[in-house]
Amino acid sequence: MSRPDLASEAGPVRGRAFAIGLRNRFRGITVREGLLVQGPAGWGEFSPFAEYGPQESSRWWAACHEAAHLGPPAPVRDRVPVNVTVPAVGPERAADIVARGGCSTAKVKVAEKGQDPAQDLARVEAVRDAIGPGGRIRVDANGAWDVDTAVAMITALERFGLEYAEQPCASLEDLARVRRRVDVPVAADESIRKAEDPLKVRAAEAADVVVLKAQPLGGVRPALEVAEACGLPVVVSSAVETSVGIATGVALAAALPELPYACGLATVQMLTADVTADPLLPVDGALPVRPVTVDQDRLRAVETDPAGWHRRAEAARNAGQVR
Ligand SMILES: [Mg+2]
Repeated sequence: MSRPDLASEAGPVRGRAFAIGLRNRFRGITVREGLLVQGPAGWGEFSPFAEYGPQESSRWWAACHEAAHLGPPAPVRDRVPVNVTVPAVGPERAADIVARGGCSTAKVKVAEKGQDPAQDLARVEAVRDAIGPGGRIRVDANGAWDVDTAVAMITALERFGLEYAEQPCASLEDLARVRRRVDVPVAADESIRKAEDPLKVRAAEAADVVVLKAQPLGGVRPALEVAEACGLPVVVSSAVETSVGIATGVALAAALPELPYACGLATVQMLTADVTADPLLPVDGALPVRPVTVDQDRLRAVETDPAGWHRRAEAARNAGQVR
């Protein structure tokens, strides 16, 4: 597959920096920041989290560069089913979120710190009632359970019908132990942050499904190669980007040969603003596969000084070149 020739690039990075509020705290942050770069193929987003250094950010830069200079590969579908996400709220609120989400798949947060198992059971039961017998439910523990708790909870939740349990435990070894003891499929999310991680997940027989994100894997084409090498079903998820970054995730989901599960790309609602007049929001439980056009007025409303982001992008680009 063709790749942008990163090594041949030099000179300053030029883009537009943004800072957009989050409706709820996420990964300890309340503002999502990044750089948007326009190239011959369209807009790309570079938004590694603040703690990521140049080496880790180099893949995020490659993803941005790919979007701006190459654009997406040919899609094999024109819509990408997405899930509604239910945070660790009470059952009534959970049912309400599902009803308003308009999706036939729900991802339910479980194992929240300070909550007890009965709250997880009540939440998932309420989601099952709200989504109906034909809807799909996955639970996401974000690695918070130990093996025995994971087995007990997944077994208890199984009666509500689970399509999979996402990252029940933190380590690969524990995921594999849980997987051997439950009938519900296991998905790996936090276990996958680098291109080689899905292969480790498979080698450890730690999961049945892998959650992949386009930016941390270096863009759509590298992520497709990872998916192919891994050989497990893929759920594409976002890094809570603007619609520009979400379009990259949608392009990945649209190009996968098989897409048996709804994706975690309906996250634009988590932001208080967007940079386009036509955000990538779900319609009938799916995102359309299409380019995103940046709206100058909306971008200006969230624009910040790009100097720091230009330095981060150049450092990331240079780190990628010496790899
Ligand atoms: Mg997850």
